[in-house]
Amino acid sequence: MFADRAGAVQGGGRDVLLQCATMPEPVAPRFLADVYEAASRCNKCSLCQAVCPTYLVNPVEWETARGRVALIRDAIEGRLELRDIADGPLSTCLTCNNCIAACAPRVPTGDIVSRARQELHEQEGHPAGQTLVLRSVLPHPRMLALVHRLSRAAQVTGLHALARHSGVTRWLGAAGALMEHVGPLPARTAHHRARALPAAEGTPRGRVALFVCCYQNLAAPAATEAVMRVLLSSGFEVVVPRLGCSGLPAKSLGDRDAELDMARRNVERLRELAVDALVGDVTSCTGHVQRYGELLRHEPPLAAAAAAVASRTWRVAEFLLRAGLTAPLGPLRWRVAYDEPCSLPLGGDAREAPYRLLGSIPALQMRPLAETEMCCGGAGDYVRREPERSAAILARKLNNVAASGAEVLVTDNISCLIQLREGARRHAPGLRVMHLFEVLLASMESAQRRAPGRRPG
Ligand code: SF4
Ligand code: SF4
Repeated sequence: MFADRAGAVQGGGRDVLLQCATMPEPVAPRFLADVYEAASRCNKCSLCQAVCPTYLVNPVEWETARGRVALIRDAIEGRLELRDIADGPLSTCLTCNNCIAACAPRVPTGDIVSRARQELHEQEGHPAGQTLVLRSVLPHPRMLALVHRLSRAAQVTGLHALARHSGVTRWLGAAGALMEHVGPLPARTAHHRARALPAAEGTPRGRVALFVCCYQNLAAPAATEAVMRVLLSSGFEVVVPRLGCSGLPAKSLGDRDAELDMARRNVERLRELAVDALVGDVTSCTGHVQRYGELLRHEPPLAAAAAAVASRTWRVAEFLLRAGLTAPLGPLRWRVAYDEPCSLPLGGDAREAPYRLLGSIPALQMRPLAETEMCCGGAGDYVRREPERSAAILARKLNNVAASGAEVLVTDNISCLIQLREGARRHAPGLRVMHLFEVLLASMESAQRRAPGRRPG
């Protein structure tokens, strides 16, 4: 049981006492000093309720941004311990930050919850399996390649089932849960596919480095291949640096040291690349790289390079929209809805770009999708941590997709892609779930069929 200042509520099997009281004056924070001011900005207006996916499926106060932030502030000020709110207020938040859109003082609840999880892990230590994956596997490209070979071999030989039954996947924590969630891995990773691609078409317009997300590389490499083909067909040379993970999973799982270590390694690898831009096709990881400057700002040897890497990094849809998609597009007579990854910025070109690229495809029918900006329940390792909540949020999403009349659901984030494919399997057989660039590639191929002699990249 834990305390807050807003009223008594009960929900989800987790009884919560929220005590009424006037807001106390700020005090010297016991910890989390870097987010204390932001947490203190909440004015209790409650506008965040209506846009919070977890509150909509479990309408109790501690599910809201207001409730979570008030409890974290109570912990910072010493009225309770973080352990008291670990199960519920800290665990069920998707850290999607969707609440910010409704919040006048822009309280970054997702970031505050992430920092509270990090603090809790620092107080209590990290699970051994998770630490192994975050520190000894994800930062190292060779280890990631080895994981792919071993995972494929385990699936083919049946060892994967043995690992599941023996509890090894559980011991691996989030990584093991993702192995369960993803299902069979494609035989060829995005790195394999990159080696077999043609040269850029026409006179090169520029040279870009594509971040290949370690998760998408293994689980949905066709999406990354489509990105490379569309860029090549639009006249861009594509280089694929061998990088480790961006560090976003470490942030989500509360391992600050691992997050910083991965950022440092990637900055070292990216700082010298002779390219015009750095692009990524996974909105969440790319957004995380865009924060490297802020993340490493207190590390003088790398701060300037980190800021430079961040400023040269683009989500690939926004990059292509600005640069111009020059490859011919052919008609697709599809009814399409776009599901916005919650890792997109609140507004601006990055949010507009997918719609505008889809809008440039002849004959494509765009269908409005209610609550498109809401998380699908697939963020990070949420499926493992909160399987029932994740399933409820996913079912709500698929209801909205059904109401839209779309036959193709489009997104551009790997965890959304995997989660929505699972949702289609459970709730909407026949619904195709595609990465934005898979749709663009299909349109290019449609143009190619109509104009023999020209090949898509
Ligand atoms: S970050 Fe997402 S899940 Fe968490 S309180 Fe805000 S809207 Fe709700
Ligand atoms: S919208 Fe923002 S200020 Fe209002 S209650 Fe929610 S978190 Fe607090």
